[in-house]
Amino acid sequence: MSPVDTKHAPPQPDERQGVLSGWGRTSPVTATLVRPGDSSQVAALLAGEAPARGLIARGAGRSYGDAAQNGDGTVIDMTALAGITALDSRTGEIEVGAGTTFAELLEALAQRGLTLPVVPGTAHLTVGGAIAADVHGKNHPRAGSIARQLRSFALCTPADGEIEVSESEQPELWAATLGGMGLTGVITAATLRTIELRRPIAVADTDKVDTLEEAIELLDADAHSHAIAWLDLMGRGRRFGRAVVTRSREGEQPAGSSRLELKPAQAGVAARLPSGLLRPASVRAYNRMRWLASPRRARERPLAIDAALFPLDAIGAWNRLYGRRGLVQYQCAVPDGEEWTLRCLLEMLRSQRLPMYLATLKRLGPGSGGMLSFPLKGWTLAIDIPARAPGLAAALDRADLLVASSGGRVYLAKDARMSSETLARMYPALPQFLAVRARVDPHETLRSDLSRRLGLTR
Ligand SMILES: Cc1cc2nc3c(=O)[nH]c(=O)nc-3n(C[C@H](O)[C@H](O)[C@H](O)COP(=O)(O)OP(=O)(O)OC[C@H]3O[C@@H](n4cnc5c(N)ncnc54)[C@H](O)[C@@H]3O)c2cc1C
Repeated sequence: MSPVDTKHAPPQPDERQGVLSGWGRTSPVTATLVRPGDSSQVAALLAGEAPARGLIARGAGRSYGDAAQNGDGTVIDMTALAGITALDSRTGEIEVGAGTTFAELLEALAQRGLTLPVVPGTAHLTVGGAIAADVHGKNHPRAGSIARQLRSFALCTPADGEIEVSESEQPELWAATLGGMGLTGVITAATLRTIELRRPIAVADTDKVDTLEEAIELLDADAHSHAIAWLDLMGRGRRFGRAVVTRSREGEQPAGSSRLELKPAQAGVAARLPSGLLRPASVRAYNRMRWLASPRRARERPLAIDAALFPLDAIGAWNRLYGRRGLVQYQCAVPDGEEWTLRCLLEMLRSQRLPMYLATLKRLGPGSGGMLSFPLKGWTLAIDIPARAPGLAAALDRADLLVASSGGRVYLAKDARMSSETLARMYPALPQFLAVRARVDPHETLRSDLSRRLGLTR
Protein backbone atom coordinates (compact mmCIF):
# COMPACT_ATOMS: atom_id res chain seq x y z
CA MET A 1 0.00 0.00 0.00
CA SER A 2 1.19 3.54 -0.71
CA PRO A 3 0.32 6.63 1.37
CA VAL A 4 -2.15 8.89 -0.48
CA ASP A 5 -3.75 11.40 1.85
CA THR A 6 -2.30 13.37 4.69
CA LYS A 7 -4.70 16.32 4.64
CA HIS A 8 -6.11 15.48 8.09
CA ALA A 9 -3.40 16.57 10.55
CA PRO A 10 -3.81 14.97 14.01
CA PRO A 11 -5.59 17.48 16.24
CA GLN A 12 -4.76 18.13 19.88
CA PRO A 13 -6.52 15.86 22.37
CA ASP A 14 -9.64 17.69 23.42
CA GLU A 15 -12.06 17.15 26.32
CA ARG A 16 -15.33 18.94 27.06
CA GLN A 17 -18.81 18.46 28.49
CA GLY A 18 -21.58 18.17 25.94
CA VAL A 19 -25.21 17.18 25.42
CA LEU A 20 -25.54 14.17 23.15
CA SER A 21 -28.35 12.20 21.60
CA GLY A 22 -28.94 9.83 18.72
CA TRP A 23 -30.42 10.88 15.39
CA GLY A 24 -33.93 10.32 16.82
CA ARG A 25 -33.19 12.89 19.61
CA THR A 26 -35.31 10.92 22.09
CA SER A 27 -33.09 10.82 25.18
CA PRO A 28 -30.42 13.56 25.28
CA VAL A 29 -27.80 13.19 28.02
CA THR A 30 -24.79 15.07 29.30
CA ALA A 31 -21.41 13.37 28.91
CA THR A 32 -17.70 14.11 28.83
CA LEU A 33 -16.55 14.10 25.22
CA VAL A 34 -12.93 13.17 24.55
CA ARG A 35 -11.56 13.57 21.03
CA PRO A 36 -8.35 11.55 20.53
CA GLY A 37 -6.12 12.53 17.63
CA ASP A 38 -4.62 9.11 16.96
CA SER A 39 -4.86 5.45 17.90
CA SER A 40 -2.23 5.66 20.64
CA GLN A 41 -4.46 8.17 22.45
CA VAL A 42 -7.40 5.79 22.09
CA ALA A 43 -5.29 2.96 23.53
CA ALA A 44 -4.23 5.20 26.43
CA LEU A 45 -7.87 6.01 27.22
CA LEU A 46 -8.78 2.33 27.37
CA ALA A 47 -5.67 1.34 29.34
CA GLY A 48 -6.14 3.97 32.05
CA GLU A 49 -8.48 3.66 34.99
CA ALA A 50 -12.00 3.54 33.54
CA PRO A 51 -14.33 6.43 34.47
CA ALA A 52 -17.11 5.35 36.88
CA ARG A 53 -19.72 5.16 34.11
CA GLY A 54 -17.33 3.71 31.52
CA LEU A 55 -16.55 4.80 27.95
CA ILE A 56 -18.08 4.33 24.52
CA ALA A 57 -17.00 5.32 21.01
CA ARG A 58 -19.08 7.68 18.90
CA GLY A 59 -18.84 8.27 15.16
CA ALA A 60 -21.21 10.68 13.44
CA GLY A 61 -24.13 10.06 15.82
CA ARG A 62 -26.35 8.71 13.00
CA SER A 63 -27.65 5.77 15.02
CA TYR A 64 -31.18 6.69 16.09
CA GLY A 65 -31.26 5.65 19.74
CA ASP A 66 -28.82 5.58 22.65
CA ALA A 67 -25.98 3.43 21.24
CA ALA A 68 -23.42 6.22 20.91
CA GLN A 69 -24.14 8.06 24.16
CA ASN A 70 -23.21 7.44 27.77
CA GLY A 71 -25.11 9.62 30.25
CA ASP A 72 -22.81 11.10 32.94
CA GLY A 73 -19.99 9.00 31.50
CA THR A 74 -17.34 9.44 28.81
CA VAL A 75 -17.82 9.33 25.06
CA ILE A 76 -14.88 8.97 22.68
CA ASP A 77 -15.47 11.16 19.64
CA MET A 78 -13.69 9.32 16.83
CA THR A 79 -14.05 11.93 14.11
CA ALA A 80 -10.42 13.09 14.27
CA LEU A 81 -9.14 9.70 13.09
CA ALA A 82 -10.17 10.49 9.53
CA GLY A 83 -8.76 10.13 6.04
CA ILE A 84 -7.52 7.52 3.59
CA THR A 85 -4.10 6.40 4.81
CA ALA A 86 -3.25 3.90 2.05
CA LEU A 87 -4.56 2.64 -1.26
CA ASP A 88 -3.48 -0.54 -2.99
CA SER A 89 -3.99 0.23 -6.67
CA ARG A 90 -3.57 -3.46 -7.57
CA THR A 91 -6.32 -4.86 -5.32
CA GLY A 92 -8.36 -1.65 -4.89
CA GLU A 93 -8.22 -2.06 -1.11
CA ILE A 94 -8.11 1.11 0.97
CA GLU A 95 -7.00 1.69 4.52
CA VAL A 96 -8.97 4.42 6.31
CA GLY A 97 -9.23 6.00 9.73
CA ALA A 98 -12.37 4.84 11.58
CA GLY A 99 -13.67 8.42 11.85
CA THR A 100 -13.75 8.93 8.07
CA THR A 101 -17.27 9.55 6.83
CA PHE A 102 -18.68 7.70 3.84
CA ALA A 103 -19.28 11.10 2.19
CA GLU A 104 -15.54 11.91 2.41
CA LEU A 105 -14.61 8.45 1.29
CA LEU A 106 -17.00 8.24 -1.65
CA GLU A 107 -15.81 11.60 -2.98
CA ALA A 108 -12.15 10.68 -2.66
CA LEU A 109 -12.76 7.29 -4.26
CA ALA A 110 -14.84 8.72 -7.13
CA GLN A 111 -11.84 10.85 -8.13
CA ARG A 112 -9.91 7.59 -8.52
CA GLY A 113 -12.71 5.83 -10.43
CA LEU A 114 -13.63 3.67 -7.42
CA THR A 115 -16.57 3.32 -5.07
CA LEU A 116 -17.86 1.29 -2.10
CA PRO A 117 -20.05 -1.73 -2.83
CA VAL A 118 -22.21 -1.24 0.30
CA VAL A 119 -23.58 2.11 1.45
CA PRO A 120 -26.48 2.70 3.85
CA GLY A 121 -29.20 5.32 3.35
CA THR A 122 -27.02 8.19 4.57
CA ALA A 123 -23.48 9.12 3.56
CA HIS A 124 -22.88 11.01 6.80
CA LEU A 125 -21.84 8.09 8.97
CA THR A 126 -18.33 6.97 9.87
CA VAL A 127 -16.52 3.78 8.92
CA GLY A 128 -16.26 2.79 12.62
CA GLY A 129 -20.00 3.32 13.16
CA ALA A 130 -20.73 1.32 9.99
CA ILE A 131 -18.71 -1.67 11.21
CA ALA A 132 -20.15 -1.48 14.74
CA ALA A 133 -23.68 -1.68 13.24
CA ASP A 134 -22.71 -4.01 10.33
CA VAL A 135 -24.65 -1.69 8.04
CA HIS A 136 -26.50 -2.76 4.90
CA GLY A 137 -27.71 -0.90 1.82
CA LYS A 138 -30.48 -1.28 -0.74
CA ASN A 139 -28.48 -4.06 -2.40
CA HIS A 140 -28.13 -6.44 0.54
CA PRO A 141 -29.22 -9.59 -1.32
CA ARG A 142 -26.38 -9.05 -3.81
CA ALA A 143 -23.64 -7.35 -1.86
CA GLY A 144 -24.25 -8.38 1.76
CA SER A 145 -23.54 -6.00 4.62
CA ILE A 146 -20.31 -4.10 5.19
CA ALA A 147 -18.87 -7.30 6.76
CA ARG A 148 -18.45 -8.75 3.28
CA GLN A 149 -16.57 -5.66 2.07
CA LEU A 150 -14.21 -5.49 5.02
CA ARG A 151 -10.79 -7.16 4.93
CA SER A 152 -9.64 -6.28 8.45
CA PHE A 153 -9.83 -3.59 11.12
CA ALA A 154 -7.68 -2.28 13.96
CA LEU A 155 -9.43 -2.61 17.31
CA CYS A 156 -8.38 -1.21 20.70
CA THR A 157 -9.70 -3.48 23.44
CA PRO A 158 -9.42 -2.85 27.19
CA ALA A 159 -7.77 -6.28 27.70
CA ASP A 160 -5.29 -6.42 24.80
CA GLY A 161 -4.67 -2.87 23.52
CA GLU A 162 -4.63 -2.35 19.76
CA ILE A 163 -4.87 -5.49 17.63
CA GLU A 164 -5.47 -6.17 13.95
CA VAL A 165 -8.63 -8.25 13.49
CA SER A 166 -9.45 -10.34 10.43
CA GLU A 167 -12.12 -12.98 9.97
CA SER A 168 -9.57 -15.78 9.48
CA GLU A 169 -7.28 -14.84 12.40
CA GLN A 170 -9.84 -13.93 15.12
CA PRO A 171 -13.21 -15.26 13.92
CA GLU A 172 -14.97 -14.78 17.26
CA LEU A 173 -13.80 -11.22 17.87
CA TRP A 174 -14.64 -10.41 14.25
CA ALA A 175 -18.18 -11.80 14.60
CA ALA A 176 -18.73 -10.05 17.94
CA THR A 177 -17.52 -6.67 16.63
CA LEU A 178 -19.58 -6.66 13.39
CA GLY A 179 -22.88 -5.36 14.77
CA GLY A 180 -21.48 -5.28 18.33
CA MET A 181 -22.33 -1.57 18.79
CA GLY A 182 -18.88 -0.57 20.05
CA LEU A 183 -18.94 -2.97 23.00
CA THR A 184 -15.93 -5.12 22.04
CA GLY A 185 -13.48 -2.24 21.59
CA VAL A 186 -12.81 0.97 19.71
CA ILE A 187 -12.14 0.55 15.98
CA THR A 188 -9.37 2.93 14.95
CA ALA A 189 -8.83 1.96 11.30
CA ALA A 190 -10.16 -0.43 8.68
CA THR A 191 -9.19 -1.94 5.34
CA LEU A 192 -12.10 -2.02 2.91
CA ARG A 193 -12.62 -3.48 -0.54
CA THR A 194 -13.63 -1.06 -3.26
CA ILE A 195 -15.11 -1.64 -6.71
CA GLU A 196 -14.73 0.20 -9.96
CA LEU A 197 -17.14 3.15 -10.34
CA ARG A 198 -18.08 2.45 -13.90
CA ARG A 199 -20.81 5.04 -14.49
CA PRO A 200 -21.78 7.66 -11.92
CA ILE A 201 -25.50 7.44 -12.61
CA ALA A 202 -28.24 4.89 -12.01
CA VAL A 203 -31.28 3.98 -14.07
CA ALA A 204 -34.44 3.31 -12.12
CA ASP A 205 -37.62 1.36 -12.76
CA THR A 206 -40.55 2.77 -10.79
CA ASP A 207 -43.89 1.07 -10.07
CA LYS A 208 -46.85 2.30 -8.08
CA VAL A 209 -48.70 -0.54 -6.37
CA ASP A 210 -51.78 -0.59 -4.15
CA THR A 211 -50.73 -3.05 -1.46
CA LEU A 212 -47.83 -4.21 0.66
CA GLU A 213 -48.13 -7.67 -0.90
CA GLU A 214 -47.64 -6.29 -4.43
CA ALA A 215 -44.59 -4.34 -3.22
CA ILE A 216 -43.15 -7.55 -1.77
CA GLU A 217 -43.69 -9.34 -5.06
CA LEU A 218 -41.84 -6.66 -7.04
CA LEU A 219 -38.95 -6.43 -4.59
CA ASP A 220 -38.57 -10.18 -4.83
CA ALA A 221 -37.82 -9.98 -8.56
CA ASP A 222 -34.06 -10.14 -8.90
CA ALA A 223 -32.95 -8.16 -11.96
CA HIS A 224 -31.82 -4.97 -10.19
CA SER A 225 -28.94 -4.24 -7.90
CA HIS A 226 -30.69 -1.74 -5.58
CA ALA A 227 -34.35 -1.86 -4.55
CA ILE A 228 -36.60 -0.15 -2.00
CA ALA A 229 -40.32 0.46 -1.53
CA TRP A 230 -41.74 3.61 0.03
CA LEU A 231 -45.02 2.82 1.79
CA ASP A 232 -47.76 5.36 2.42
CA LEU A 233 -48.95 4.50 5.93
CA MET A 234 -50.80 7.80 6.38
CA GLY A 235 -53.30 7.08 3.60
CA ARG A 236 -56.85 6.42 4.78
CA GLY A 237 -58.98 3.39 3.89
CA ARG A 238 -57.66 1.45 0.92
CA ARG A 239 -54.86 3.95 0.43
CA PHE A 240 -53.15 2.65 3.57
CA GLY A 241 -50.09 0.62 2.52
CA ARG A 242 -49.95 1.72 -1.11
CA ALA A 243 -46.35 1.84 -2.27
CA VAL A 244 -43.89 3.25 -4.76
CA VAL A 245 -41.27 0.63 -5.60
CA THR A 246 -37.96 1.86 -7.01
CA ARG A 247 -35.47 -0.62 -8.40
CA SER A 248 -32.25 0.67 -9.88
CA ARG A 249 -28.98 -0.42 -11.39
CA GLU A 250 -25.94 1.23 -12.96
CA GLY A 251 -26.84 3.04 -16.16
CA GLU A 252 -25.43 4.63 -19.28
CA GLN A 253 -23.74 7.95 -18.66
CA PRO A 254 -25.33 10.73 -20.75
CA ALA A 255 -22.87 13.12 -22.42
CA GLY A 256 -21.70 15.81 -20.01
CA SER A 257 -23.23 14.16 -16.94
CA SER A 258 -21.73 15.05 -13.63
CA ARG A 259 -19.59 13.23 -11.09
CA LEU A 260 -20.76 12.14 -7.66
CA GLU A 261 -21.73 15.21 -5.63
CA LEU A 262 -22.60 14.79 -1.97
CA LYS A 263 -24.04 17.61 0.09
CA PRO A 264 -22.28 18.45 3.37
CA ALA A 265 -24.03 17.02 6.47
CA GLN A 266 -25.43 20.40 7.55
CA ALA A 267 -26.75 21.56 4.17
CA GLY A 268 -30.30 20.95 2.94
CA VAL A 269 -33.72 22.52 3.19
CA ALA A 270 -34.46 21.21 6.71
CA ALA A 271 -32.13 23.84 8.20
CA ARG A 272 -34.46 26.56 6.90
CA LEU A 273 -37.69 24.93 8.12
CA PRO A 274 -39.15 25.33 11.62
CA SER A 275 -38.45 22.58 14.14
CA GLY A 276 -41.51 20.39 14.74
CA LEU A 277 -43.03 21.21 11.35
CA LEU A 278 -44.35 17.70 10.73
CA ARG A 279 -47.97 17.05 11.65
CA PRO A 280 -50.26 14.21 10.48
CA ALA A 281 -52.19 16.49 8.10
CA SER A 282 -49.04 17.92 6.48
CA VAL A 283 -47.44 14.48 6.13
CA ARG A 284 -50.66 13.05 4.66
CA ALA A 285 -50.70 15.88 2.11
CA TYR A 286 -47.01 15.35 1.30
CA ASN A 287 -47.54 11.61 0.85
CA ARG A 288 -50.48 12.27 -1.46
CA MET A 289 -48.31 14.60 -3.56
CA ARG A 290 -45.54 12.06 -3.66
CA TRP A 291 -47.94 9.35 -4.75
CA LEU A 292 -49.45 11.53 -7.47
CA ALA A 293 -46.04 12.65 -8.69
CA SER A 294 -44.83 9.07 -9.18
CA PRO A 295 -45.53 7.38 -12.48
CA ARG A 296 -47.69 4.21 -12.37
CA ARG A 297 -44.97 2.43 -14.30
CA ALA A 298 -41.71 3.89 -15.61
CA ARG A 299 -38.67 2.12 -16.98
CA GLU A 300 -34.96 3.01 -17.17
CA ARG A 301 -35.25 6.60 -15.96
CA PRO A 302 -31.81 8.13 -15.27
CA LEU A 303 -31.18 9.07 -11.66
CA ALA A 304 -28.09 10.70 -10.11
CA ILE A 305 -26.36 8.15 -7.91
CA ASP A 306 -26.48 10.35 -4.80
CA ALA A 307 -30.26 10.83 -5.28
CA ALA A 308 -30.70 7.08 -5.68
CA LEU A 309 -28.62 6.12 -2.65
CA PHE A 310 -29.07 9.00 -0.20
CA PRO A 311 -32.43 10.72 -0.87
CA LEU A 312 -32.81 11.93 2.73
CA ASP A 313 -29.35 13.53 2.84
CA ALA A 314 -30.57 16.18 0.38
CA ILE A 315 -33.03 17.39 3.06
CA GLY A 316 -30.28 17.78 5.69
CA ALA A 317 -31.18 17.62 9.40
CA TRP A 318 -34.75 16.39 8.79
CA ASN A 319 -34.86 14.84 12.28
CA ARG A 320 -35.47 18.38 13.65
CA LEU A 321 -38.80 18.47 11.83
CA TYR A 322 -40.17 15.98 14.39
CA GLY A 323 -39.82 18.59 17.15
CA ARG A 324 -38.28 18.58 20.60
CA ARG A 325 -39.39 15.06 21.59
CA GLY A 326 -37.84 13.54 18.47
CA LEU A 327 -38.69 10.38 16.54
CA VAL A 328 -38.49 6.65 16.95
CA GLN A 329 -37.59 4.54 13.97
CA TYR A 330 -38.89 1.00 14.35
CA GLN A 331 -36.81 -1.13 12.00
CA CYS A 332 -37.38 -4.86 12.10
CA ALA A 333 -36.41 -7.85 9.98
CA VAL A 334 -38.55 -10.95 9.47
CA PRO A 335 -37.42 -14.16 7.77
CA ASP A 336 -38.63 -15.44 4.40
CA GLY A 337 -42.00 -17.11 4.72
CA GLU A 338 -43.05 -14.67 7.48
CA GLU A 339 -44.24 -11.89 5.17
CA TRP A 340 -47.67 -12.04 6.81
CA THR A 341 -46.03 -10.76 10.02
CA LEU A 342 -45.39 -7.47 8.22
CA ARG A 343 -49.08 -7.21 7.34
CA CYS A 344 -50.09 -8.07 10.97
CA LEU A 345 -47.62 -5.51 12.28
CA LEU A 346 -48.94 -2.73 10.06
CA GLU A 347 -52.56 -3.53 10.88
CA MET A 348 -51.80 -3.61 14.60
CA LEU A 349 -50.00 -0.23 14.48
CA ARG A 350 -52.79 1.19 12.33
CA SER A 351 -55.42 0.04 14.85
CA GLN A 352 -53.52 2.04 17.49
CA ARG A 353 -53.85 5.14 15.26
CA LEU A 354 -50.12 5.79 15.32
CA PRO A 355 -48.89 8.44 12.88
CA MET A 356 -46.42 6.52 10.68
CA TYR A 357 -44.78 9.34 8.76
CA LEU A 358 -42.17 7.50 6.72
CA ALA A 359 -41.96 3.79 5.97
CA THR A 360 -39.68 1.77 3.74
CA LEU A 361 -39.38 -1.91 2.87
CA LYS A 362 -36.27 -3.69 1.57
CA ARG A 363 -35.24 -7.23 0.71
CA LEU A 364 -32.44 -8.79 2.75
CA GLY A 365 -30.06 -11.61 1.83
CA PRO A 366 -28.35 -14.01 4.25
CA GLY A 367 -26.72 -12.54 7.37
CA SER A 368 -22.98 -12.01 7.83
CA GLY A 369 -22.49 -14.18 10.90
CA GLY A 370 -22.09 -11.12 13.14
CA MET A 371 -23.38 -12.19 16.57
CA LEU A 372 -25.56 -9.08 17.02
CA SER A 373 -25.73 -8.22 13.34
CA PHE A 374 -29.20 -7.26 12.07
CA PRO A 375 -29.72 -8.57 8.52
CA LEU A 376 -31.24 -12.04 8.03
CA LYS A 377 -32.61 -13.62 4.87
CA GLY A 378 -36.02 -12.02 4.48
CA TRP A 379 -37.45 -8.53 4.69
CA THR A 380 -36.81 -5.33 6.58
CA LEU A 381 -39.44 -2.73 7.35
CA ALA A 382 -38.54 0.68 8.83
CA ILE A 383 -41.19 3.06 10.17
CA ASP A 384 -40.60 6.59 11.51
CA ILE A 385 -43.04 7.70 14.21
CA PRO A 386 -42.98 10.89 16.32
CA ALA A 387 -41.83 9.92 19.83
CA ARG A 388 -44.64 11.97 21.37
CA ALA A 389 -47.36 9.80 19.74
CA PRO A 390 -49.75 8.54 22.46
CA GLY A 391 -49.63 4.77 22.98
CA LEU A 392 -46.35 4.36 21.11
CA ALA A 393 -44.44 2.45 23.82
CA ALA A 394 -47.16 -0.19 24.35
CA ALA A 395 -47.74 -0.60 20.59
CA LEU A 396 -44.04 -1.16 19.89
CA ASP A 397 -43.85 -3.70 22.74
CA ARG A 398 -46.60 -5.61 20.93
CA ALA A 399 -44.71 -5.20 17.66
CA ASP A 400 -41.64 -6.75 19.33
CA LEU A 401 -43.69 -9.81 20.30
CA LEU A 402 -44.89 -10.29 16.72
CA VAL A 403 -41.40 -9.85 15.29
CA ALA A 404 -39.72 -12.13 17.85
CA SER A 405 -42.36 -14.85 17.33
CA SER A 406 -41.62 -14.81 13.60
CA GLY A 407 -37.91 -15.41 14.22
CA GLY A 408 -37.15 -11.79 13.38
CA ARG A 409 -35.40 -8.94 15.15
CA VAL A 410 -35.19 -5.20 15.74
CA TYR A 411 -32.13 -3.25 14.48
CA LEU A 412 -29.97 -2.09 17.41
CA ALA A 413 -28.66 0.89 15.43
CA LYS A 414 -32.22 2.22 15.30
CA ASP A 415 -33.48 1.01 18.66
CA ALA A 416 -34.22 3.38 21.56
CA ARG A 417 -36.67 1.38 23.69
CA MET A 418 -36.43 -2.41 23.46
CA SER A 419 -36.10 -4.55 26.64
CA SER A 420 -33.30 -6.98 27.53
CA GLU A 421 -35.76 -9.92 27.48
CA THR A 422 -36.75 -9.10 23.89
CA LEU A 423 -33.11 -8.75 22.87
CA ALA A 424 -32.38 -12.28 24.09
CA ARG A 425 -35.31 -13.68 22.08
CA MET A 426 -34.31 -11.88 18.91
CA TYR A 427 -30.56 -12.46 18.95
CA PRO A 428 -29.83 -16.16 19.57
CA ALA A 429 -26.03 -15.63 19.49
CA LEU A 430 -26.22 -13.26 22.47
CA PRO A 431 -24.51 -15.75 24.89
CA GLN A 432 -21.52 -16.08 22.50
CA PHE A 433 -21.36 -12.28 22.23
CA LEU A 434 -21.31 -11.90 26.02
CA ALA A 435 -18.55 -14.53 26.29
CA VAL A 436 -16.33 -12.59 23.84
CA ARG A 437 -17.10 -9.37 25.69
CA ALA A 438 -16.11 -10.88 29.02
CA ARG A 439 -12.75 -11.84 27.50
CA VAL A 440 -11.88 -8.53 25.80
CA ASP A 441 -13.46 -6.20 28.37
CA PRO A 442 -13.40 -8.04 31.72
CA HIS A 443 -13.99 -4.90 33.83
CA GLU A 444 -16.80 -3.50 31.67
CA THR A 445 -14.86 -0.42 30.64
CA LEU A 446 -17.01 -0.12 27.51
CA ARG A 447 -20.53 0.93 28.36
CA SER A 448 -23.28 2.95 26.75
CA ASP A 449 -26.86 3.91 27.53
CA LEU A 450 -27.91 1.17 25.11
CA SER A 451 -25.73 -1.47 26.80
CA ARG A 452 -27.22 -0.62 30.21
CA ARG A 453 -30.80 -0.55 28.91
CA LEU A 454 -30.38 -3.92 27.21
CA GLY A 455 -28.59 -5.53 30.14
CA LEU A 456 -25.38 -6.04 28.15
CA THR A 457 -23.40 -4.27 30.88
CA ARG A 458 -24.12 -3.04 34.39
C1 LIG B 1 -30.92 8.91 7.38
C2 LIG B 1 -30.32 7.61 7.87
C3 LIG B 1 -30.37 6.51 7.02
C4 LIG B 1 -29.83 5.30 7.46
N1 LIG B 1 -29.89 4.22 6.61
C5 LIG B 1 -29.35 3.05 6.97
C6 LIG B 1 -29.35 1.93 6.09
O1 LIG B 1 -29.84 2.01 4.96
N2 LIG B 1 -28.76 0.78 6.51
C7 LIG B 1 -28.17 0.66 7.73
O2 LIG B 1 -27.63 -0.41 8.04
N3 LIG B 1 -28.14 1.71 8.60
C8 LIG B 1 -28.72 2.89 8.24
N4 LIG B 1 -28.69 3.95 9.11
C9 LIG B 1 -28.08 3.76 10.44
C10 LIG B 1 -26.58 4.07 10.44
O3 LIG B 1 -25.95 3.55 9.30
C11 LIG B 1 -25.95 3.40 11.66
O4 LIG B 1 -26.60 3.82 12.83
C12 LIG B 1 -24.45 3.69 11.84
O5 LIG B 1 -23.99 2.95 12.94
C13 LIG B 1 -24.17 5.16 12.07
O6 LIG B 1 -22.78 5.38 12.09
P1 LIG B 1 -22.15 6.58 12.95
O7 LIG B 1 -20.77 6.81 12.49
O8 LIG B 1 -23.07 7.74 12.91
O9 LIG B 1 -22.13 5.90 14.39
P2 LIG B 1 -22.74 6.40 15.77
O10 LIG B 1 -24.20 6.60 15.61
O11 LIG B 1 -21.95 7.52 16.31
O12 LIG B 1 -22.51 5.07 16.64
C14 LIG B 1 -23.23 3.90 16.34
C15 LIG B 1 -22.60 2.72 17.10
O13 LIG B 1 -21.30 2.50 16.59
C16 LIG B 1 -20.35 2.54 17.63
N5 LIG B 1 -19.13 3.15 17.09
C17 LIG B 1 -19.01 4.31 16.41
N6 LIG B 1 -17.73 4.51 16.05
C18 LIG B 1 -17.04 3.44 16.54
C19 LIG B 1 -15.67 3.07 16.51
N7 LIG B 1 -14.74 3.82 15.91
N8 LIG B 1 -15.31 1.92 17.13
C20 LIG B 1 -16.23 1.14 17.73
N9 LIG B 1 -17.54 1.44 17.78
C21 LIG B 1 -17.93 2.58 17.19
C22 LIG B 1 -20.98 3.38 18.72
O14 LIG B 1 -20.48 3.04 20.00
C23 LIG B 1 -22.45 2.99 18.58
O15 LIG B 1 -22.71 1.81 19.29
C24 LIG B 1 -29.22 5.19 8.73
C25 LIG B 1 -29.16 6.31 9.56
C26 LIG B 1 -29.71 7.52 9.14
C27 LIG B 1 -29.64 8.72 10.04
